[in-house]
Amino acid sequence: MATERTPVGFIGHGNPMNVAMEDRYRPWVEWGQRLPRPLSVLAVSAHWEASPVLIGSTARHDRLMYHFGGFPDWMYHLQYPAPGAPDLADRVEGLLSPGLSVERTERLLDHGVWAPLLHLFPDADVPVLQISMPMTMSAEGLFELGRELAPLRDEGVFILGTGNVVHNLPDARWDTDEPTGYAVDFDGWVAQALRTKDMAAIVDWVGRAPDPLRNHPSEEHYRPLVVATGAASGDDTRFPVEGFEHATISRRSVQFG
Ligand code: ZN
Repeated sequence: MATERTPVGFIGHGNPMNVAMEDRYRPWVEWGQRLPRPLSVLAVSAHWEASPVLIGSTARHDRLMYHFGGFPDWMYHLQYPAPGAPDLADRVEGLLSPGLSVERTERLLDHGVWAPLLHLFPDADVPVLQISMPMTMSAEGLFELGRELAPLRDEGVFILGTGNVVHNLPDARWDTDEPTGYAVDFDGWVAQALRTKDMAAIVDWVGRAPDPLRNHPSEEHYRPLVVATGAASGDDTRFPVEGFEHATISRRSVQFG
């Protein structure tokens, strides 16, 4: 059992091709090396929105999901055979029930999870469990979900939200990483809210952040940040990765605690 509270993370996973672009994945490697080694990882990804709270596969991750199109063939053969985490699945079920409905599935890890983990924990020796992000849940509900999971931090579990602080694909540019003005403003607003521990602002981002709908034409890449913030219990934040890719995708990653 870990002796100190395990940090909570949020990672800006961005383009799936980042797994093979050294300037993009190098900061993930370095972050992983600085993190206290967790006993397991509990991941909540932008790429699995499903209600109620679904628990993914607890088997060894010998197979992965590749639900992206148009990438080179080798991308669909990447492996991350980390152990499953059946005991963690039992704990999650215990913590969330009976207030929330929880169901077991055999759903595989998606690239929001395995792409960053390939570099955060490259030996694939830390057990991993993914749970869904309930799409019907309000931002307040997602924050509360994170709060209910927070006791796992005392058991060596690294709770990891994976999405992007800014994510506008229609405006994305493939010829530059130089950020668009509205993306810089929104990303800076989120960073300031996290620095000052203004958790209410993170939750009420649609009401308070600059140009929210332009930065997130759909909300799924922002919402894992709300879960992570809920699990963080007001811990200090640092940003192991900052910057942008494709002009309108923030690479900002957050370590709480
Ligand atoms: Zn994504």
